[in-house]
Amino acid sequence: MIEQETAKTLMASMRDADVIIVGGGHAGCEAAAAAARLGARTLLVTHRIDTIGEMSCNPAIGGLGKGHLVREIDALDGVMARVADRAGIQFRLLNRRKGPAVRGPRAQMDRALYKKEMLAALQAQDNLEILAAEAEEILFDGDAVSGLKLGSGEIISASTVVLTTGTFLRGIIHSGDVSTPAGRIGEAPVVGLAKCLDSLDLPLGRLKTGTPARLRKQSINFSALEQQPGDTIPDMFSALSEGPAVPQVDCHITRTNLETHRIIEDNIHRSAMYSGRIKSRGPRYCPSIEDKIVRFADRDTHQVFLEPEGLDSDLIYPNGLSTSLPEEVQIAFLRSMPGLENVEVVRAGYAIEYDYVDPRALNHTLETKARRGLFFAGQINGTTGYEEAAAQGLLAGANAALNALGREMLRLSRTQSYLGVMIDDLVTRGVTEPYRMFTSRAEFRLHLRADNAMERLTPLGIETGLVGHQRRELFEAKSRELGMARARLETLSLTPQQARAAGLKLNQDGVRRSGFALLAYPDIDADTLIGIWPELADIERPIMEKLEIDAKYAVYLDRQAEDIAALKRDEARVIPEWIDYSALTGLSAEVRQKLIAHRPETIADAQAIDGVTPAAVLLLLAVIRRGRLEKAG
Ligand code: FAD
Repeated sequence: MIEQETAKTLMASMRDADVIIVGGGHAGCEAAAAAARLGARTLLVTHRIDTIGEMSCNPAIGGLGKGHLVREIDALDGVMARVADRAGIQFRLLNRRKGPAVRGPRAQMDRALYKKEMLAALQAQDNLEILAAEAEEILFDGDAVSGLKLGSGEIISASTVVLTTGTFLRGIIHSGDVSTPAGRIGEAPVVGLAKCLDSLDLPLGRLKTGTPARLRKQSINFSALEQQPGDTIPDMFSALSEGPAVPQVDCHITRTNLETHRIIEDNIHRSAMYSGRIKSRGPRYCPSIEDKIVRFADRDTHQVFLEPEGLDSDLIYPNGLSTSLPEEVQIAFLRSMPGLENVEVVRAGYAIEYDYVDPRALNHTLETKARRGLFFAGQINGTTGYEEAAAQGLLAGANAALNALGREMLRLSRTQSYLGVMIDDLVTRGVTEPYRMFTSRAEFRLHLRADNAMERLTPLGIETGLVGHQRRELFEAKSRELGMARARLETLSLTPQQARAAGLKLNQDGVRRSGFALLAYPDIDADTLIGIWPELADIERPIMEKLEIDAKYAVYLDRQAEDIAALKRDEARVIPEWIDYSALTGLSAEVRQKLIAHRPETIADAQAIDGVTPAAVLLLLAVIRRGRLEKAG
């Protein structure tokens, strides 16, 4: 199937495009689709058609913070959510028992199916052509982009270029004491384009990431392991999907033990990361197993999810075991774990170092400050993760198209979306380690929920032209239903006496409360209201649940807005000398470490440190205020 499509796709006829996207990874696919949706003549130039949509690491999409980004991509009619729904083999809503703001949709993917569906989605997109080629040099006319030179020497003219080259720029793979230049395992690194970026004087740095070994499924004793099924009623990523497209499977869980840790400790000097051969920083939140053993020395076990790579795949991905130890050490520590006693390693894990561009060289539109028409998105901007890459890709692709078409570019605010939070963090603070999205990075996380991404962003997508006909109709129908249901709840009301007669405990303050206002109370839910007004049973369940979330959150949203206003007022406040960060138990170890290392002078300085969350700054403010009072007393 892919071979036939390849032949067709290779005949890309575009030699004069509005937008050229370089790289067919997660950022590139989304960028290409977004630019084409806006009507720009778009050319996607990528090394190989059969690696379009490749998941370099774990076969999963979504999770906490990341799932929010996927829903936001969907709200702007992007492709990742729909493709993930078609390729999903196990769906789980993480944090289901916690509040809606921190719930994160996640799904295991069939890796091969994901690529196939992504290619199909791109090939079905009007205004988009795909060319398998190496991009060698970006061409300029003065300080504005004029085109792209390919490895073959051929030139394609365009007024905008979006670079989404992932980990390929001067990539070096490390496994034990062997280091090999590569962009990903089995793929050559990119040197020509890296030199071109050098000549543009862009600020470049080095980062690293890693991946675990891939295990042969038949060599694992699953009967000894805990099973982890998906949700019985799956939450899909896309508002346009009705349910999973393929059969669903279970994952399994195993654990490291003291013997695993001993093997790793005894060989730690052989890890590329610990022997000093890798100097760059890796993702704090996706640490290698060596890192975990050193950093959390007091823990005698770590959980490892054994995730299938696909329905017909013979491979299992051991999530949590990324490593750059030599292969024989990997085999030894794997075999010390339950269920893996006889495991066969099909491909050893490795670490990769690569160039990234300091994102502070970019505007909020993801265009470079120094060169007009040149945009960057994805891992090249110092982020890690498919979802972070795809979300940036969508914005960069859309803005490249808007720019090429002479229209005003999009800027997203922190109050509107996680995408806005991420871009703002990147372009104002830069990165010191691969940036990953978390709900704690957002000040307005009660508002930025996965369940309301469509309400937050689809109107903007409609206005810009990013959202197509089908989603527009769905959005308008859902908004109508929601509006009508809310109006019904607002017209029904109870006095406190009537509420008491119905078994509800409310203040007897004489105030009549609407059905919507009643839903704000913690012990009143949709079923309570249906018990009082049975006619409400004809409102669709998801609509009723949505209204309940909106009502319950309304109170907190007001409080959150006050907190944010207080933060703004206090930005100039000097942090007193007597603050002892190590004694502030409410702070996470990461935030504490960073505050101790930076010793910020003011609240604004503390806010500007990557990883210091708004919640941490609020806590700091509270301690300063309390300290002042105590000292005054
Ligand atoms: P990529 O997916 O890397 O895509 C880049 C594309 O650009 C490729 O298709 C490549 O062929 C193409 N390309 C590059 N240069 C050129 C050129 N000059 N001409 C034409 N085409 C070009 N993320 C996590 O969240 N957790 C992890 O644990 C994790 N581990 C990882 C481990 C490894 C070994 C790697 C390689 C990545 C890992 N990632 C991890 C990161 C994740 O894979 C990336 O964040 C994500 O794929 C980035 O998407 P992207 O679109 O920016 O780049």
